[in-house]
Parts: sequence; C-alpha cells; structure tokens
Amino acid sequence: MNLVVVSNRVSRGKPNEPMTGGLAAALLPVVEKSGAIWVGSSGRVRDGNTREPFAEVEALGAGALAMLDLPAAHYGGYYEGFANSALWPALHSRADLIRASQEDYVSYREVNAFMARALLRFRKPDSIFWIQDYHFLALGAEMRDLGVSQPIGFFLHTPWPARAVISGVPNHRELIEAMLAYDLIGFQTEEDCENFLGYVQADLDLVVHDGVISSSSGQTRAAVFPIGIDPDKFAQQATKAMTHPDVSRLRRSLNGEKLAIGVDRLDYSKGLVNRIKAFDRMWTLYPQQKRTTSLLQIATPSRGAIEAYGNLQSEVAKLVTDVNGIHGEVDWTPIRYLNKGFGQAVLAGLYRTAQVGVVTPLQDGMNLVAKEYVAAQNPDNPGVLVLSKFAGAANELDAALLVNPHDIDGMARSIATALSMPLTERRMRWEAMMAKLNTSTIQQWFASFIEALQDTQVAGTVAHEPPTLWPRRATDLAARYH
Ligand code: UDP
Repeated sequence: MNLVVVSNRVSRGKPNEPMTGGLAAALLPVVEKSGAIWVGSSGRVRDGNTREPFAEVEALGAGALAMLDLPAAHYGGYYEGFANSALWPALHSRADLIRASQEDYVSYREVNAFMARALLRFRKPDSIFWIQDYHFLALGAEMRDLGVSQPIGFFLHTPWPARAVISGVPNHRELIEAMLAYDLIGFQTEEDCENFLGYVQADLDLVVHDGVISSSSGQTRAAVFPIGIDPDKFAQQATKAMTHPDVSRLRRSLNGEKLAIGVDRLDYSKGLVNRIKAFDRMWTLYPQQKRTTSLLQIATPSRGAIEAYGNLQSEVAKLVTDVNGIHGEVDWTPIRYLNKGFGQAVLAGLYRTAQVGVVTPLQDGMNLVAKEYVAAQNPDNPGVLVLSKFAGAANELDAALLVNPHDIDGMARSIATALSMPLTERRMRWEAMMAKLNTSTIQQWFASFIEALQDTQVAGTVAHEPPTLWPRRATDLAARYH
C-alpha cells in the first residue's frame, strides 16, 4: 500500500516550532512512522501556468513531504475566502459570519482541481488517498474526474452542523454531492456524522443504510473516528520540559500562586471572550482567589487577514486590559496574555505547571489541547480540566468538569471548584480521562481509518464515477458564473 495524505497545511516536524493547529500536530507523528507521502501547501503561491503543479519533496521520517505552491490567482479566494469565510463559520454553526462570493467559490474549486492534478504525480497502482478537512471537500470528485480509481477517504477535523446551518453556505448542494466521490468519510463525533447523514437523506433524497450512502457515484460510508494524541509522548515531553528555561521562569514567577492555562488559536470558535469574562466573574464572586490565582492565556494569531479575526483580536486584547485594570494590583497581574506560539516540547511543561486547564470553545471538532493538558499532568498531583461540552473531546473526557461556554456564571463557579478540588477527586478524574486517552490514541485513529478505507474496497463500495449532478470541472463553473 502506498498512502498519500493530503491537507492544506503540512508540518516539517521541527520540535521547537509551534504547530499550526491540531491537524498538523496529529498527522505529523503518523506520517513520520507510516512512510506515507504527505502533500500540502508550501505556504507560497505561484503565478502563471497552474496546469503543471510544482512540488518540493523532502524526507519526513520514514515518509516524505511534498509542498506545493498554490496558484496565486486563486489562493485568497480559496483560503481566506471560501474555506475560512464561508465553510469554517458554517461548520462551527456561525451562519451569521458566512461571507462568500461566487469568485471565492470558483477559486476554491480551482484549487481543489489543481490539487487533484498535482496528486497524479504521486499515484501508484496500489495507492490509497486520504484527504483531510474542509479545504478539500471537492478534491475526491476532481480526482475521479481525472480517472483516479483507487480508494479515496476523507476526514473532517471540524464539526458538521445541523442541516439549516450548512444550507447557509452558497453551493452547499453541489459541494456535498461532490463529497460522495469519497469511499469513506470520517467524522469526529456521532452527532457530526448524524448531521451529515441527515442532510444527505433529507436534502439530497438519497438512501442511507447502516451508514452507507448510495448515490449515482457508488457507495460512500460515513463513520466516526475520534482523533487522539500520543499520550506517552506528551507525558515524557512534559516531564522533560520542567527544566526548560521558559517553564522554569514561569514557575519561579508564580510565587506559590495557582495557575490556570488556556491555549488556543485566536479564533471565534474558541470562546475566548466568554472565558475571560468567566475569570472576571470568578475574581468578583470569589475575592479570595485574587492574588492566589492567575490565568496564562496563550492566544496564537490566526487568519489575521480575515475581518472577523482582526475584530476578535482587538476585542480580546481590550477585554484582557479591562479585566487586568479592574482586578490587578501593583504586584499582581490577573491575566498573562501572549499572542505567540510555543513548540509542543515547551507547551507540555506549561500545561504541567498549571493546576487548571481551561478549554471552553463554543464549538470544536475535537480540541487536542484538552487531551494534551490531561496527558501532561503529574500523576501524583494532577491538575483539573475545565472543558466545554461543545468540544468533541467532551465525549471521551466526560470526567472533566464539563461547562456550558455560554454560561459565564456557571464557568466562573466551575473554575473556582477546579481550583479547590481535593487531591483524591483530582486523581480519580485524571485516571478516568487517561484511561480514555490510552485506548484512543493517534496511532489507533490512523490505523482504524486506513483499515476501514481498505475495507470499502474489499466490500466493493468503491466509487469510480464522478457524481453526475455537479459541474465536472472548475472551468465549467467559471464559465457558469462569469
Ligand atoms: N499548539 C502548538 N503551539 C502553540 C499552541 C498550540 O504547538 O503555541 C498546538 C497544540 O499543541 C495542538 C494544536 O496546536 O496540538 C491545536 O489543536 P486544537 O485541536 O486544540 O485546535 P485547532 O487549532 O486545530 O483548532
């Protein structure tokens, strides 16, 4: 088997560099070990003839990394446009933030078509393709159009919303029909999978039996594969990181104070505003926690060119300043707020230093930070995870203190409960969560998806034909919309 993994972003696996997100963090170790080739964007764009994709290939563990320059004319419409201003908000149930033009949609489809052409170079008779995430909903269909008959699987790292919300995305029907070119579609949670199947049945009028969708392009299986982490690696990294200068300095600076930690991309789905309001409320309701507890919030800049993200950055920065101004003292800063990223080797030590991990997204496909926080704890004296019930991780980590991220008072009370939780309860909860992490690792996620994808072929459910209902090529689209 020759596995080709495709995602928008790739990681070169430099231990001191921050990960660009959960997807890259999750894929890196499995690609390194499996010998797969991982194809994605180089982060650069290229003018001119996009019929001949250019890829720079380098070794990555037992596998390889192929980095493509994406077409300059379409990159903005694809990435900042359709992917992150239409699909991302819809997938996170923020229909109010959907912004999309037909030009953006055409660019999205052009980049999907471009990637399909680029992948031909890596195709072998025994290849199987595994496409990642919402940037490439139509990639499988473009590949079928070019005659690729090998198995193609797709995994969605984000949630899949209710029918009414996804219907707010322009061209949603065409896109979802195009997704049926995949043999296997993986979701993070049962709810995501059910929402998707609900759309397919009600809006596309297709028959679904036992998670298998029958359409004009053959059969597509939809199933749940919750993504995991490598808990042993995180535990080792955390122990080692305790002597790292950044971690040592943090510990010295605390002077016996308790620490809560939040680590998020600056994204409206992460619930940062409500979290900071909850800390504000906590210090008001429990003044004894003033001076004795602070929050370290790492908020790595993300998608800054998109208006909604720029607005969020200003809003969060202002809120942090206000809360620090109200509660702070000459020798105590309630919130330490950093707009930069850390390599995971340091991050693991920061997690282990904090008595409370706060992960309170409004919506999140999984949230790997929640799992990493748990894995990094000292088993003899573990910290407490305060986790949003709307993160995919809440399905497995139900021994966390689960909170409603819209309920500021409720979150304030849960943070205070976490800060004063006795050791016996902390250990009981932590052990229950570790047991889940150890039975659902990243290696198992990878192996079970690939096995299921190979089974689709054995079961004869491989779709060889592109779906008939959507325009065959991105160029057809351009002609239609211009
Ligand atoms: N991360 C990192 N450095 C940072 C902040 C985050 O390497 O400074 C990593 C973190 O360890 C995790 C990933 O980025 O693996 C974030 O994944 P998550 O699923 O929590 O959220 P996403 O950003 O994918 O929405």
